[in-house]
Amino acid sequence: MSGVSLTILGATGSVGSQTLDLIARHPGRWRVEALTANSDVDGLAAAARATGARYAAIGDARAYGALKAALAGTGTEVAAGADAVREAGAREAEIVLTAIVGAAGLAPTLAAVARGARLAIANKETLVCAGPVVRAAARASGSVLLPVDSEHNAIFQVFDHAAPQRVRKVVLTASGGPFRQWDRAAMGQASVKDACNHPVWSMGAKISIDSATLMNKGLELIEAEQLFDVGPDRLDVIVHPQSVVHSMVEYVDGSVLAQMGTPDMRIPIAYALAWPERVETPCARLDLAAIGNLSFEAPDLERFPALALAWAALRAGGSAPCILNAANEVAVAAFIAGQVGFLDIADIVAAVLDRLGSAPLEGLEAVLAADSAARRTTEAVVKERAR
Ligand code: NDP
Ligand code: MG
Repeated sequence: MSGVSLTILGATGSVGSQTLDLIARHPGRWRVEALTANSDVDGLAAAARATGARYAAIGDARAYGALKAALAGTGTEVAAGADAVREAGAREAEIVLTAIVGAAGLAPTLAAVARGARLAIANKETLVCAGPVVRAAARASGSVLLPVDSEHNAIFQVFDHAAPQRVRKVVLTASGGPFRQWDRAAMGQASVKDACNHPVWSMGAKISIDSATLMNKGLELIEAEQLFDVGPDRLDVIVHPQSVVHSMVEYVDGSVLAQMGTPDMRIPIAYALAWPERVETPCARLDLAAIGNLSFEAPDLERFPALALAWAALRAGGSAPCILNAANEVAVAAFIAGQVGFLDIADIVAAVLDRLGSAPLEGLEAVLAADSAARRTTEAVVKERAR
């Protein structure tokens, strides 16, 4: 099969399956080298069969037999375990789309960056916890980093990469999430279902909950700093409930360039896959007359303290973003498991940042150590608060 070789890390998730949808619409344009999942054997096997993937890796080592059986009679090589997922990133493919959720995406991402692959990055947690490590590896190998996250993809499209000093501000838009108009008392009682009920985007559970706390926007500020290097003072957030303006770049002359479109992740995914070209997508076209009004408001840092925590971690630098991310992953998992309430998520992250402080962070070993120390501390804090 011809086409540009492509690996999808996290092929069974929300972003992964939208990527599969796009490549099926452009037969011959991309050839799938490797696909990965964590435990969804059926989803991974179906995707491998549909695409003729050469390699399929499942994170859960116990699922090896089931995946092997599900792919019997195909030419797909099957492997299982965290090393097998990392290997998917290491295998020759021109483009690697990273759509694993959480810092679990770090090792396969680094394997892809080390060999100079072009990266289409959805997995923001990897940039938050280890941005400097990923960027240094990309500089060394010549790997190009293309953002898939809709805001960063928007910024990438309107950013003057040749003259970043002309950028006065990078403004990320936020939908405001499902609790934009809820008071703190109601948020305290919010269920996992409430938190996952995003008004605009349909996404995986973890990012949906991050969107409800606004931690997602906080992670995205840090992600933006890693991708565009403008410094915390030139980053800003504005709430825009319609999610039509995906983000903006203001220039020194007062011009503001924005990228717009219907809220459909297949647009930024297609951009990152086809770059520097563009391809057709089946997305609804933007009909501004039908939408009528676009509104904007300042974020409320009191009702959404997670955003303030992320701002502070971005400014503190060092290990703070890594600790913030790890604590948030553990706290969100505890909320999903029913161990803590919705408002506890930000409280827990704050307590962990307080306990651990920020230290200089250099190199992968230091990142991994900070990440696991933060996870241990967060588990202890969750136990203290568990209801
Ligand atoms: P999902 O939860 O829908 O999918 C996550 C994917 O990662 C699945 O393929 C899952 O496999 C796999 N996975 C989960 N844990 C592990 C692990 N420990 N090791 C290996 N693989 C694992 O997430 P989304 O698609 O919503 O999000 C993916 C990433 O993209 C996140 O970082 C998110 O922040 C970012 N993003 C998502 C957007 C969206 O619209 N969904 C928008 C912008 C960014 P399995 O199915 O087997 O569990
Ligand atoms: Mg986003």
